[in-house]
Amino acid sequence: MSHHYDVIVIGTGAGGGTIAHALAMAGKKILLLERGDFLPREKDNWNSAAVQGDKKYQTKEVWQDADGKEFNPQQHYYVGGNTKVYGAALFRMRAEDFGETIHQAGISPAWELSYAEFEPYYAAAEQLYGVRGNRGEDPTEPWSSSGYSYPAVSHEPRIQQLAEDFAAQGLKPFHMPLGIQRDNDDRLSKCIRCDTCDGYPCLVRAKSDAEVAALTPVLGRANVTLLTNALATNLETNSAGSEVTAVTVERNGARLKYTADVFVVSCGAINSAALLLRSANDKHPRGLANSSDLVGRHLMKHNNSIMLAVSRCEVKTVYQKTLGINDFYFASDAWEYPMGNISFVGSVDGATLAAHAPAIVPEFSLEMVARRSLAFWLMSEDLPDPNNRVTLAADGSIVLAYRENNMQAHERLKEKTKELMGHQRTCDVHGSSCHVGMFASHIHVSQKIPVAGVSHQNGTLRFGSDARTSVLNLDCRTHDVNNLYVVDGSFFPSSSALNPGLTIMANALRVGDHLLAGMK
Ligand SMILES: Cc1cc2nc3c(=O)[nH]c(=O)nc-3n(C[C@H](O)[C@H](O)[C@H](O)COP(=O)(O)OP(=O)(O)OC[C@H]3O[C@@H](n4cnc5c(N)ncnc54)[C@H](O)[C@@H]3O)c2cc1C
Ligand code: SF4
Repeated sequence: MSHHYDVIVIGTGAGGGTIAHALAMAGKKILLLERGDFLPREKDNWNSAAVQGDKKYQTKEVWQDADGKEFNPQQHYYVGGNTKVYGAALFRMRAEDFGETIHQAGISPAWELSYAEFEPYYAAAEQLYGVRGNRGEDPTEPWSSSGYSYPAVSHEPRIQQLAEDFAAQGLKPFHMPLGIQRDNDDRLSKCIRCDTCDGYPCLVRAKSDAEVAALTPVLGRANVTLLTNALATNLETNSAGSEVTAVTVERNGARLKYTADVFVVSCGAINSAALLLRSANDKHPRGLANSSDLVGRHLMKHNNSIMLAVSRCEVKTVYQKTLGINDFYFASDAWEYPMGNISFVGSVDGATLAAHAPAIVPEFSLEMVARRSLAFWLMSEDLPDPNNRVTLAADGSIVLAYRENNMQAHERLKEKTKELMGHQRTCDVHGSSCHVGMFASHIHVSQKIPVAGVSHQNGTLRFGSDARTSVLNLDCRTHDVNNLYVVDGSFFPSSSALNPGLTIMANALRVGDHLLAGMK
């Protein structure tokens, strides 16, 4: 069979899986190259000791920080990429996020495309990933051309009580937009609502990850070839350096080459930058498509914390991730600058707490703490800094330099969450002494593994119309190389303070439309 394709897509996560779906449905002959395998379906999918303790599904790869300290990054190399373990909170960015936003620590730059240009693709991505939600509850929600196809996943009683207590304080709590196939009262619902979702693979394939939602419907078509365990190591160009001619792949000990008219890189923001840097040649001495010297720069990954609100009563909630608060997302009465988004992790248990090692009340065992905890997920925007960047060590392995910024916004969000919890209704059994306290674990910066928390990585190949200040043009094609596109989280010029998945998926559909228009 010919090794030449219409399009080769490298990486099968949120970006690669989604664009592959669009191209495959349009009948294009595509090759998908994925360094990982299918994630095995096995009981350990839902075993927290295996998943959180042993990190069974996380890569064993070792990267270095700017000081040469080694760490094991939070990366998952499978068909479906990091979406295999994601929490499936599928937010649209706010319309204002596409404009310039002033933060206490600096400016979050505008995107050169508006929310209106992304809107149809957000709607299509929500459809493809079966997002559940209720329009109109979230006060920051941008306008939309269509409703959600399914109602929001309902709150369990303790979360409902919390929502009511927040509303009584004048806030506007909302149901999270979620890509899990949970139909609330339907006993045949695919999702069984379990306590091992966020951070775990879904054993019953009810989470809309890129493999389940985007790839499964097209794998098996004659025009689609997927090669697993196929690590793309280098992109070759023609002698002028103007077009990619082939991708070199390592697979089962062999070195293979594949050719195509168009190459779409979607290895995740860090690995895509690394692949371009590794593909330096005579015409691209600083790395492929790197005339701007911006490849790998402006890495963002959000300022994220888990904050536990511990009570004397057991929380008895299976799946907490249904509630969100965006009242402090923009400048507000509480502060003149944006703070970010408050939501939840799906659930925590002793093994998860042990893995993230927060400093918590000594008189409780970790398992007891977990059973008595509401586990908030606090997310604030980090700003693009050219010195936060991906480079390569002499052996070609990844080096990440990342200095956190805009932390005052994040600290205020933590304080605000504590304050809100101080105004909850009192417990019937313990009165106001039920609420023991709030304990934050800034999980993405621990002393042991300084920059390992890269789950929300983005920004390393920013898009824009000026080839001097961006790597990709507004169609996500590299300015320097005509047939080379990138559709993972790399293209973000700023990161907002919302989970990046849906924006990556929507953009992949947008770029897919552009490619299809040019291939007619
Ligand atoms: C625990 C966790 C929870 C999360 N929760 C959420 C959430 O609730 N909501 C949300 O929006 N986001 C969430 N995220 C983030 C989300 O998963 C990512 O933003 C998204 O998957 C990024 O998509 P991507 O296409 O950029 O890269 P990825 O999904 O990482 O895909 C990259 C793919 O490329 C492959 N690859 C890499 N290098 C090569 C190579 N050289 N050759 C071949 N293949 C290669 C990888 O194996 C992978 O399959 C979470 C992430 C994690 C880890
Ligand atoms: S909560 Fe639902 S979607 Fe998530 S892992 Fe459990 S069954 Fe799967």
